[in-house]
Amino acid sequence: MTYAPSSPSSPSTALLIVDVQNDFVTGTLPVPGGADVAAAITAHLRANPSRYALVVASQDWHDPVGDNRGHFAAATADPDYALTWPRHCVRDEPGSQYHPALDSALVDVHVRKGQGAPAYSMFEAVDPAGRGVADTLREAGIGAVDVVGLATDYCVRATGLDARAAGLDVRLLTDLVAGVTPATSAAAMAELDAAGVELVESGAPAGPTGSTEAAR
Ligand SMILES: [Zn+2]
Repeated sequence: MTYAPSSPSSPSTALLIVDVQNDFVTGTLPVPGGADVAAAITAHLRANPSRYALVVASQDWHDPVGDNRGHFAAATADPDYALTWPRHCVRDEPGSQYHPALDSALVDVHVRKGQGAPAYSMFEAVDPAGRGVADTLREAGIGAVDVVGLATDYCVRATGLDARAAGLDVRLLTDLVAGVTPATSAAAMAELDAAGVELVESGAPAGPTGSTEAAR
């Protein structure tokens, strides 16, 4: 794989696509609007073929046996949709595959998380060689990321917060995410905003805004 060189004046940007998988669109844990988001992410990439130096996509990828350390609700209990969930994104099953409206041929690096345990952030995921996302971005000279995908209130939230913690400039593209509920999505957006994540639509010009620069 070759990476675009980073320029000192404008750090290379990566697109982080969080968990656009069948179970989160049409399966056991459907997110309202998920199919539209999948198609819109593909359209965004096709319309901006040179914007991103790297495109990384994650998959929740759970073990088929057991409860993945309490992540799946017990057969005798209802999920609480906060800490316990219906069975979802079991490795190699149809529900764990990317939704077909996401053109996965546009993805450079595929990472997976949640093998045997809960994992919300893409920064907990690893590529087939076992390398984590933070290392991959660092080695590619990435200084800024746009975060998109599912779901705003859980895995997108956790990914955005971890991206800030990793020292990256972070934008959440608000028209390319969807959440489980409006209330928890609004709370997640407020938390991301407070952590310094810029909330913008995908049509906004690439790169940091003047206000972000002024805040440094
Ligand atoms: Zn999961």
